[in-house]
Amino acid sequence: MDGRNDGFVVDGRPDAYGRYPRGPMARAESSVAVYVHVPWCLQRCPYCDFATEAINPRNIPHEAYADAVVSELEIRARDAVQGPIDTVFFGGGTPSLWSVEALGRVLRAIQSTFSGSPREVTVECNPTSLDEDRAAALEDIGVTRLSLGVQSLRERHLRYLGRLHDAPQAERALRAASSRAALRVTADLMFGMPEQSEDELVEDMRRLVELGAGHLSAYALTIEPATRFGELARKGRLRKLPDDGVAALFEAAERCAESLGLEHYEVSNYATPGQRGLHNEHYWRGDDYVGLGAGAVGCTVRDGRVLRYKNVYDVPSYLEAGARRERPREELEELGSDDRVREGLMLGLRTTEGVSLRALAERIGVDPRVGRERAIEKAVRRGWLTDDGDRLVIPRARWLLADDIVSSIF
Ligand code: SF4
Repeated sequence: MDGRNDGFVVDGRPDAYGRYPRGPMARAESSVAVYVHVPWCLQRCPYCDFATEAINPRNIPHEAYADAVVSELEIRARDAVQGPIDTVFFGGGTPSLWSVEALGRVLRAIQSTFSGSPREVTVECNPTSLDEDRAAALEDIGVTRLSLGVQSLRERHLRYLGRLHDAPQAERALRAASSRAALRVTADLMFGMPEQSEDELVEDMRRLVELGAGHLSAYALTIEPATRFGELARKGRLRKLPDDGVAALFEAAERCAESLGLEHYEVSNYATPGQRGLHNEHYWRGDDYVGLGAGAVGCTVRDGRVLRYKNVYDVPSYLEAGARRERPREELEELGSDDRVREGLMLGLRTTEGVSLRALAERIGVDPRVGRERAIEKAVRRGWLTDDGDRLVIPRARWLLADDIVSSIF
């Protein structure tokens, strides 16, 4: 079965073969998540493999980039999920380098393209480009959440990570963000730097919450091959915390979060009540989403096929396509139902709620349990999964093994 099953059921229940409806009918019930990529940073960090390039802020084509994004929006909206707008996320790169006017213009265009009002509009910011004026201006244009790339409040870890800010600058930016009543604030932390202690990590977490962050994301440092760190690691010249030290930090973060009243609701994410990030939930549920901007990734349906597109990363070429009101150059990958099931399991099983196999089936059109029954039973016997007949959940005590557990049921 290739996963294309258009037309065999119409009422949301599986047919005689256990297959579920998908395609236009399932899509019509969704709400829309839009991601806008801002492809510039002041400097490349040595561990980062995101689609971004270093730029002198004077050279940012603020308005031309906004024009190109708005032009792409018109094209993508035609084959996007039909439904009200739910969340908008400006990520990067460093969206806080983009002028607030240009960003606001794009936000208004998104709002007027889709029905409804977004529940959440997030802008990623670096401490080097967020002060009180910018926080106020972002609040004024309708942004509801700032995501601040703090990474650490220790000078030696910030230097190791090649970050441009220092700890006082991170604290000032966090104060600026949390001084705005309408803005929710989340901060990113990294762990796994050489000689990083549990005390350092938990003290940073406490301090960030004290300064007003209602949500924290804590990511283990991973070494990507196409980065400066990747190159150093290949030459055996990269210092890094051993794996058992990284695991101990993950557990320390979990204990600290609990003592701070933060819910650990996804492997890397912690929230105080009511502060969960809403945009990522679209990814974790395996929903389609619209991606805009140079290097952005999104999902679309063309001729009944679900496709993942990746826009050309070359900014001049992206701007040219925008000026001609054409679709930017893109790489396309067709997502078969099995790819979508894998993705849905991989992302959903990283959350407290786990994955409803029925909801996944309704979205994708095949029963994810079929062919995996024995692997699921085995994982349940080992205590790696719970299974209530619909929902699979990895117990939190096993989250460190999440990737292995997910692989075991592929
Ligand atoms: S600031 Fe963020 S996006 Fe930019 S290079 Fe550093 S880690 Fe990557």
